[in-house]
Amino acid sequence: MNTKGVCILGATGSIGINTLDVIARHPQKFRVVALTANSEIDRLYRQCLEFRPAYAAMGDEHAAALLADKLKVPLPETQVLSGVSGLEQVASLPQADYVMAAIVGAAGLLPTLAAARAGKRILLANKEALVMAGAIFMDEVRQHGAELLPIDSEHNAIFQCLPAANKGGWKQAGVRRILLTSSGGPLLRTPMGALSGVRPDEACAHPNWAMGRKISVDSATMMNKGLEVIEACWLFHTTPEQIEVVIHPQSVVHSMVEYEDGSILAQLGSPDMRIPIAHAMAWPERMESGADHLDLFAVARLDFEAPDFERFPCLRHACEAAVTGGTAATILNAANEVAVAAFLEKQILFTDIARVISDTTAATKPRPMGGLEDILEDDQLARIAAKNRIAEIRTY
Ligand code: NAD
Ligand code: MG
Repeated sequence: MNTKGVCILGATGSIGINTLDVIARHPQKFRVVALTANSEIDRLYRQCLEFRPAYAAMGDEHAAALLADKLKVPLPETQVLSGVSGLEQVASLPQADYVMAAIVGAAGLLPTLAAARAGKRILLANKEALVMAGAIFMDEVRQHGAELLPIDSEHNAIFQCLPAANKGGWKQAGVRRILLTSSGGPLLRTPMGALSGVRPDEACAHPNWAMGRKISVDSATMMNKGLEVIEACWLFHTTPEQIEVVIHPQSVVHSMVEYEDGSILAQLGSPDMRIPIAHAMAWPERMESGADHLDLFAVARLDFEAPDFERFPCLRHACEAAVTGGTAATILNAANEVAVAAFLEKQILFTDIARVISDTTAATKPRPMGGLEDILEDDQLARIAAKNRIAEIRTY
């Protein structure tokens, strides 16, 4: 049987580790051809020893040199690359059929774009790449015949609930809207007055999912859901108005699609990222993922409620950026990345995250999404504006 070669961008993160877990269950179907990380040498080293990729790449040049040194004797055949160009190179290797895009944040954009230009099957976890450069990204995918399969659990669920042949668009398929579910995160019931005192470890303590720290904070502010609204618009060629966010604290229904006739199709499963990962890797077939099968009697009930935009201003900011279009989402994403990093470093309060985003988006004028240069420029401008705002907040 023909095995598929897989490159994992962001192998040492939560999604990367889950992907390797799924691959290890199916050695007859997949082989790892490249693994990447930013600077986590020890973990990438151990992963290389286990999966013996032809290439390893690290964003950080110094870390790459240390990794190359460590691998020299046990794994002389693994070539170590570095920097953005190294990441782009492994994302476009001829022997990589599938590229798992699981770098967190804007850092994932260029390597994921390289995978699109090389016409790969892209397993897309790195939602920020699509949020900041949706039009360009989707163009590259189309032009180069790449295949885009969503890993984000909600988008993977929507993909599963949409008709397989959706070529004629939504109208022909009778799709009315998307119901995008959200657990509401760890602060759903926290008294409003206590939100400013929320510490990073509390914000990262998600009730249902174990994830990297950035997306965990995004879940606590519900910016994650806002980014997912924008992600869904690009992936499914729809408008923000056709997406409704639904709070569903159990995280069992991963999202739904409503049809004109009143039918709602949902995808259910344990909150385990190995399910969407295995789905996207096996598609259009199915394979075992390692996740627990859902016990509906243990789940017993499913609750749904409307989101509270007062409690979660970041969700509102993201929905507004989705409507504005152009580089508004690029600016929003950059401001959010800077604000979340500052919160995790205890420079600002939890409630300052929304403040920094709101002030940055007000101060940075979006433009039409022309070329990649526009995106990268607005990304930088917004980062500078957000950092300036954080410096002001800190002097209070
Ligand atoms: P993580 O923080 O656990 O891992 C991030 C990975 O990216 C690491 O391997 C890290 O080395 C790499 N990385 C970070 N900065 C880099 C840089 N500058 N250059 C090169 N590599 C860099 O994050 P995660 O939770 O695995 O999330 C990864 C992506 O998947 C995010 O975009 C997130 O929104 C998305 N996602 C994650 C989950 C989840 O359950 N964890 C669910 C849905 C979507
Ligand atoms: Mg998600």
